[in-house]
Amino acid sequence: MPLDQADKQAQQRRRAMPEAAPSEKSGQVMLTLRTHDGTEYPYPRPEGKATFNNTDGDGISWARWSWNPITGCLHSCEYCYAREITMRFKQVNPAGFTPLFHHERLSAPANTKIPEQHRDDPSWRRVFVCSMADLYGRWVPDVWICEVHDVMMTNPDWEYLLLTKFPARYNKVELPPTAWVGTSVDEQKRVRIAEDAFGWCGWSSRPAKPGAACI
Ligand code: SF4
Repeated sequence: MPLDQADKQAQQRRRAMPEAAPSEKSGQVMLTLRTHDGTEYPYPRPEGKATFNNTDGDGISWARWSWNPITGCLHSCEYCYAREITMRFKQVNPAGFTPLFHHERLSAPANTKIPEQHRDDPSWRRVFVCSMADLYGRWVPDVWICEVHDVMMTNPDWEYLLLTKFPARYNKVELPPTAWVGTSVDEQKRVRIAEDAFGWCGWSSRPAKPGAACI
């Protein structure tokens, strides 16, 4: 289904069926999060407003922030640091590494402020989106992508760095104007996938002016 159509359907569904009301368990307010196949998990509502995570100490010099409105991935890369970290902290990741939508994190771009002393440093405007997932994985519901894209488009002061092993999906969406899109090429077979997806010369005519990069 085209994403714009999926977006309309998602908005209609949201209007018809509001988000599950938070419940209370042992004094803790609980949210209901859902996986890609609809399985529900109770999740403690975080205290305070959602914000980006500062990547200081993560060894990422090209972006000062990460943002994970989706966590988990069904790919099985042996070298995956995200799976390792997620499983190490399983008590705060109820679904383990199964893809999970964190709707409570969608307000992070609006809530995060750049410290005054870093206002002129471009790396403090860059956000690595879904560093603990593949936002464009085949299993990711269209409505999840639409919701994340909506937020990026309504918060264009940030530069969003997107990375996937399924770059063909970029071609089915309207990319946020301030997004940089990339693909991971960790095996020879992914070269063809990247070439097919980016179409190299065709990208210059895309309206979103993305920066294509292979990492
Ligand atoms: S695609 Fe990325 S997030 Fe998914 S398993 Fe591979 S390294 Fe991990």
